[in-house]
Amino acid sequence: MKTLRGIAASQGIAIGPAFYFRRADLSFERYTIADPAAEWARFQAALQTACEQLAKVYARAEAESGAEQAAIFQAHALILEDPELLEAIQTAIKQGFNAEAALSDAVEMYVQMLEAMDDEYFRARAADVRDVAARLLHILLGVAESPTEGLAVPSIILARDLTPSDTVLLDKSLVLGFCTAKGGATSHTAILARGLGLPAVVGVGAEVLEIPAGALLVLDGDEGTLLVEPDEETITAYRTRREKASAVLARARRHAGEPATTRDGHRVEVVANIGSVAEAQVALESGAEGVGLLRTEFLYMERSSLPDEEEQYRAYRAIVDQFGDRPVILRTLDIGGDKELACLDLPREMNPFLGLRAIRLCLARPELFKPQLRAALRAGAGRNLKIMFPMVSTVAEVRAARAMLEECRAELLAEGQPVAEKMEIGIMVEVPAAALLADRLASEVDFFSIGTNDLSQYTLAADRTNALVAPLADAFHPAVLRLVRDIIAAAHAQGKWVGLCGELAGEPLAIPILLGLGLDEFSMNAPAIPLAKQTIRTLTLDQAREVAATALELDSPEAVRAMVTHRTS
Ligand code: PEP
Ligand code: MG
Repeated sequence: MKTLRGIAASQGIAIGPAFYFRRADLSFERYTIADPAAEWARFQAALQTACEQLAKVYARAEAESGAEQAAIFQAHALILEDPELLEAIQTAIKQGFNAEAALSDAVEMYVQMLEAMDDEYFRARAADVRDVAARLLHILLGVAESPTEGLAVPSIILARDLTPSDTVLLDKSLVLGFCTAKGGATSHTAILARGLGLPAVVGVGAEVLEIPAGALLVLDGDEGTLLVEPDEETITAYRTRREKASAVLARARRHAGEPATTRDGHRVEVVANIGSVAEAQVALESGAEGVGLLRTEFLYMERSSLPDEEEQYRAYRAIVDQFGDRPVILRTLDIGGDKELACLDLPREMNPFLGLRAIRLCLARPELFKPQLRAALRAGAGRNLKIMFPMVSTVAEVRAARAMLEECRAELLAEGQPVAEKMEIGIMVEVPAAALLADRLASEVDFFSIGTNDLSQYTLAADRTNALVAPLADAFHPAVLRLVRDIIAAAHAQGKWVGLCGELAGEPLAIPILLGLGLDEFSMNAPAIPLAKQTIRTLTLDQAREVAATALELDSPEAVRAMVTHRTS
């Protein structure tokens, strides 16, 4: 048995044969063409076919995974219309190059330019351009688009990397899980696998490509490992683990709609993190009692112009309408750092995570901020909508943001528009300065939501997107937990409530600690809700307080996890 290690990208265990996803041979010859006009017409016909294919792929992806996942294919269709790219190809054809050569040279230049950019967002776009170019080459060369030929039994898909087009080609009823040589926790493969609820391990390295086709594998998406040809005993142990996990999950799902109350009667709120209108429905089905974090960036992504107030109003209203009188917390635009927007020409920064991010950018650009605040105030009319500002580090920022909100409210009232009468205003506490100043900030707002993803990276000085140091940014670190304790205590001393919307809130091992620290609201990805509620129901508040007190005295995240596992199993 061989064990390969990678990054745990999507939870769960899969057991089955290896299927190697192979791309078709796209090598071609270079030759001089006699009739440039005919060659350009041949290229345009291929372009047309690619457009038709993309429309079909989009429809299939939308039906399988929702509009948000499918949006990538709209972006691909836009690449096919890119005037600079098309002009470069046409010029080369006029000079006598065959269409395949003209396409591949133009794309290579474009891709090199994108890949040279010191930015993950543009590097990811380079992969999309390559994906589109490969589609066109398939068509020009008349190569059948079927790297999945031979996939006949449910299998674990192995690949160097998977593009969105690749994954759409796969018949999902035959996919048990994904394992790729490349990729990180935010790669397309990881996002897709989570959306489909399939286990995935990414970034395993080239060794994954040496596994013989058909070899029996165990893919552990919880631990980030791939076992090749495991012995009977290991397989049985994994089967038992998988069965136990699915039985626990099935039971939790049956009770997902019920409240999360501890054995001694202490009730907390369990709500969802969502980033699109489609996710609102999934959240409700998973038992969300509201939305603790509406990431509004989704409205601004993959487009060339900013959404106006009306478009934003309609999207926010559609979401709050689905939740009826349940609370929805709208987080204002949180861009910068690892979240870039194609529709905003932001200056390049040496340290984007320490740069003009989120509330800092919004306050500097009222023309960006005000339409969002106006849309939110309108969407909140007669509904339970709350607003939250991200990345706050000073009291002055809260006051300035609130002043801008009041300015928008006054404008709307003067225009005779219906607006939210009383709206709770909160901030994310995700910068150490805000955590340390929580007592002062608490008097400025109605609630806090702790963002442990950023709070961990800033506390540990470890970039959450840099694979070399990301494991250091662990929210189980006692340094982070002590800040969480102090934030909650400071808010409670002034009668304000506290939620937590970082990934930590949905971690079963973190739940006893957070409950013991007095957290009022747990906000997490929808699929994590049933199990989180179930975990809360197995605890008493006293037990949780003891676990929390012990955790705060330990000296490492590993020790904290081991202690909670020991105390709660
Ligand atoms: C956080 O930082 O914990 C958080 C929830 O915000 P995001 O992950 O969107 O930065
Ligand atoms: Mg954050």
